[in-house]
Amino acid sequence: MGRLDGKTAVVTAAAQGIGRATCEAFLREGAKVIATDINLDKLKELESLGAVCQSLDVTDSAAVKKFADSVPKIDILFNCAGFVFHGTLLDTEEKDWDFSFDLNVKSMYRMCKVFLPKMIQQDSGNIINMSSVASSIKGAPNRCVYGTTKAAVIGLTKAMAADYVSNNIRVNCICPGTVDTPSLRGRIQAQPDPDQALKDFQARQKLGRFCTAEEVANLILYLATDESVYITGQQVIIDGGWSL
Ligand code: NAD
Repeated sequence: MGRLDGKTAVVTAAAQGIGRATCEAFLREGAKVIATDINLDKLKELESLGAVCQSLDVTDSAAVKKFADSVPKIDILFNCAGFVFHGTLLDTEEKDWDFSFDLNVKSMYRMCKVFLPKMIQQDSGNIINMSSVASSIKGAPNRCVYGTTKAAVIGLTKAMAADYVSNNIRVNCICPGTVDTPSLRGRIQAQPDPDQALKDFQARQKLGRFCTAEEVANLILYLATDESVYITGQQVIIDGGWSL
């Protein structure tokens, strides 16, 4: 018997990294998984594991609405999509600010706006938002707008949890430290000295290594199951001690 038998989960940014590892964990535990991403070719690798794969750009309000209309039942919504803009405030142009807020925060508003009514109608639901330790928890150098968006995700999570607790809808967010995903490797490679950048990233890991996407997926799985039924409105940190 799976821990998510009978549950339907929608996951954004599911083609790689934490979103993908979460889909794999949900599928292993018996959920019906509707995996979405803008990279449909990569996403489709999840089909062989039983996921329903659907192209979805979470910055496109019309597409999000159309997608929600095609999903009759939803128990778990994992809002994973997000982007790391590298830089201080002075490095950040208005377009970078707007893009980061659109993808990292407003996308969650869009997804919740269309799926909450379904959850309210069924008098149950579980939303998990992707935040970060680089947020209101910790100031990280060169993560100005990124950290600001991820702090907003914590605020959004708490506000929604308060508003919908009486509808049996739980809303939590997770706050990872540094997770070994394709985008992390890409960010390291994009540095002028990738070898040094890798050493710098590793040096700040108190456990001496990066977190894995599977370790984060295990936390998300816990929050998605009824094992965590009394937890709502929380920012759950998984950072190997980075924020200590
Ligand atoms: P990633 O960055 O490697 O992959 C992101 C995925 O998002 C890709 O498959 C991409 O196609 C998809 N995507 C991009 N724009 C999209 C859009 N508009 N609509 C739908 N999908 C889109 O994945 P990751 O590193 O696991 O990061 C996932 C989330 O976790 C992000 O929100 C990120 O901020 C957060 N996070 C990551 C780390 C880390 O160290 N990797 C740490 C803390 C938080």
